[in-house]
Amino acid sequence: MAPSNNTSLNDVLFNRAKAVIPGGVNSPVRAFRAVGGTPRFVKRAQGAYFWDADGKQYIDYIGSWGPMILGHGHPAVLEAVQKAALDGFSFGAPTEREVELAEAIIAQVPSLEMVRLVSSGTEAGMSALRLARGATGRSKIIKFEGCYHGHADALLVKAGSGLATFGNPTSAGVPPEVVAQTLVLEYNNLEQLEEAFKLHGAELACLMIEPIAGNMNFVRASVPFMKRCRELCRQYGALLVFDEVMSGFRVALGSAQSIYAQLIPGFEPDMTVLGKVIGGGMPLAAFGGKRAVMEKLAPLGPVYQAGTLSGNPVATACGLATLREISKPGFYETLGARTQRLVAGLTQAAHAAGQPFCGDSEGGMFGFFLMDTLPQNYAKVMTTDGPKFNAFFHGMLDAGVYFAPALYEAGFVSAAHTDADIDATVAAARAHFARA
Ligand SMILES: *Cc1c(COP(=O)(O)O)cnc(C)c1O
Repeated sequence: MAPSNNTSLNDVLFNRAKAVIPGGVNSPVRAFRAVGGTPRFVKRAQGAYFWDADGKQYIDYIGSWGPMILGHGHPAVLEAVQKAALDGFSFGAPTEREVELAEAIIAQVPSLEMVRLVSSGTEAGMSALRLARGATGRSKIIKFEGCYHGHADALLVKAGSGLATFGNPTSAGVPPEVVAQTLVLEYNNLEQLEEAFKLHGAELACLMIEPIAGNMNFVRASVPFMKRCRELCRQYGALLVFDEVMSGFRVALGSAQSIYAQLIPGFEPDMTVLGKVIGGGMPLAAFGGKRAVMEKLAPLGPVYQAGTLSGNPVATACGLATLREISKPGFYETLGARTQRLVAGLTQAAHAAGQPFCGDSEGGMFGFFLMDTLPQNYAKVMTTDGPKFNAFFHGMLDAGVYFAPALYEAGFVSAAHTDADIDATVAAARAHFARA
């Protein structure tokens, strides 16, 4: 149906949605609150593109916020999902495919001896936290400002007034006592890290970190910082928990930890939280670690954790087919080169117009900033010129390029993006910056 009177069907749908769904969306960042305007309602997607309710085509740099590493509708994945669906949607009893997926994940990530499958990154992060506390018998945890670990109560927290004090809830409905054990530190701040361990190290269950933080755009933990996180956790008996829900199987086949292992001899986290790519677009996530820790989970151990849809047969088929494709030789080399080409092209486009711009990428994950140097923490990220970012976002959207609708979110390139897609994106950016 063609839009009449210049009314976009996206507007029509958004108005209908707002009547029955809070804010018209089922996850807040989809609402375009940060950038303004009407969210695009996706009708269908194929490869590197999606089409909105008006039939307008976009080059998709969100890919469902990371899972669609092969692009939309990859034939091998589609076939696996269709076949699995014919055999049943959910059983509440174990299946061979869950074992296969657990084996496939463990095969690529040496720090993992066992994993448990769940249905969302939030659930995985929350369960990992409970397990870390149950395994150590300690309550306190460290997280970093700008890292997102899902919306479990204890993790919806921002820094308190000082290192001796614990965090404040960032959401209504989270009682202060629930975050009273969560210490929030600045990312990449070595001094604060040392001080926090000196004050609280003996009571810490874990330190949870996004090794390459994708929920404050794209910020890497520096090598000295990561090295110290590892050393201090070991010294004080706290578990180092890598939240690789976004970076896992996205930045490298061995995930972000394989990159740190190349830079820090013998490096590995104690526990890892995965999601997004391992489900290939289906609700699937996981957490895992060493056998001794994982065997503290029910039914073997005292830490309770469960899920009706955990290890869902259709989701595991989707995840397995995705892992099979991304394990093929050369996959990450090609993906990484294409992503670098995008970031370099955008940077040149901005610089040609005298605009400050910088970016970074790893594998198929990238970030860019309308500033001269890469920020190292959340406060720096948030110094981005908001109106300028929003103008860029909308300029690109009008030109059929869909970037994240918020300046603190990462972007994603899939194996379906071609050099021609990258070139078209860079040309659109060039045109925008020439106008701006
Ligand atoms: C997306 C994300 C989560 C939450 O996963 P959901 O599946 O949205 O619950 C947790 N941690 C990180 C690093 C993420 O990027």
